[in-house]
Amino acid sequence: METKKLNFDTKLIHAGHYEEHFGSATVPIYQTSTFAFKNAEHGARCFSDNKEGYIYTRINNPTIKALEDNLAELENGYGGIATSSGMGACTSIYMALLDKDSHFLSTSSVYGPSRSVIENHFSRFGVRSTFIDTSDLELVKKSIRPDTRVLFIETPSNPTIQLTDIRECAKIAHDNGSILVVDNTFSSPCLQNPLDMGADVVFHSLTKFINGHADVVGGIIITKKKELYEKIRPLMISMGCNMDPHQAYLVLRGVKTLGIRMERSQKNAMEIAEWLEKHPKVEWIKYPGLKSYKQQNLFKKQMKGPGAMMSFELKGGIEAGKKLMNSVKVATLAVSLGGVETLIQHPASMTHSGLSRQKREKAGITDGLVRYSVGIEDAGDLIKDLEQAFEKI
Ligand SMILES: *Cc1c(COP(=O)(O)O)cnc(C)c1O
Repeated sequence: METKKLNFDTKLIHAGHYEEHFGSATVPIYQTSTFAFKNAEHGARCFSDNKEGYIYTRINNPTIKALEDNLAELENGYGGIATSSGMGACTSIYMALLDKDSHFLSTSSVYGPSRSVIENHFSRFGVRSTFIDTSDLELVKKSIRPDTRVLFIETPSNPTIQLTDIRECAKIAHDNGSILVVDNTFSSPCLQNPLDMGADVVFHSLTKFINGHADVVGGIIITKKKELYEKIRPLMISMGCNMDPHQAYLVLRGVKTLGIRMERSQKNAMEIAEWLEKHPKVEWIKYPGLKSYKQQNLFKKQMKGPGAMMSFELKGGIEAGKKLMNSVKVATLAVSLGGVETLIQHPASMTHSGLSRQKREKAGITDGLVRYSVGIEDAGDLIKDLEQAFEKI
């Protein structure tokens, strides 16, 4: 079925399901490592043109291809490259696009490992980096250099829920001859489409909203144009960052409900954020759906909804935060996000503990900051859960 003209929610279900699989209603798991050629000539043709047939599962596989095509269409890209994890996607992009002595410019509060792999490892190969508050466009303009190969942004950023203007960053990057990469994990293609706003590459940790059921780790890279796709894909294959067919099957199943999951999570998040904002024990809360959210204009300009992620700081700092996390019962104390279940975590001691305190503070990650990922449970139960935990502080 031709799906390009269909609307987003229909694409979630049908895009990418182009190949015939004996009439099966869903794409089956092709649990095979290799594929037989019809004859020597066919084998040679498969190596010279990937449309001729599959070769080997690290290179591609029908289940994985269905997922790649589905997500590439949801992001309006040229093609998708599925990876073993979100970090597999991230490091494949780095390896393909960064050269010795090139410069990398990024958001300071970017996902912890996305930053530490550049600072601690790519630095060994001569890659230089600067991490700044990319929500400040003047600072982006000042910090981009002739040798800046990649401008890499995460918006909303993690866990500070700070937005960066994608359209403006695309202009700044392109005027400088640089590539704009956007980590779109927090929004999913449901709420934000960076390639439509000028980004060259978008990637997701599929582990989060897109799969949405806390049972798979996976990643995907989607490029706007063929040129970057052909640069990144062979490298990902050679490094072996490929996805597994079973993983692909589960994500294909998860993505179908992305629209309705996001709708429900956002509705819950809005109710909870309004409740938290009024709570006397809450110092501040950051959630794009609230009127008090500072970047209202940018939020409306580039996002279709406020999402299901929020950060808040309790009065009483780190000790109060710990007490809250040890007292909640419905929310699970765990890292990760974007699942059907509500998760709570403490970035300073967990996801961002790899950064020094000074770097954390510079990135806006205070010691008392709590990150809350809202699931699709009943909002009343989630509020009651927080209420009983707050009473213990
Ligand atoms: C989780 C996450 C990643 C890394 O993804 P994995 O699937 O855990 O490897 C990258 N960026 C963001 C914003 C994330 O939340």
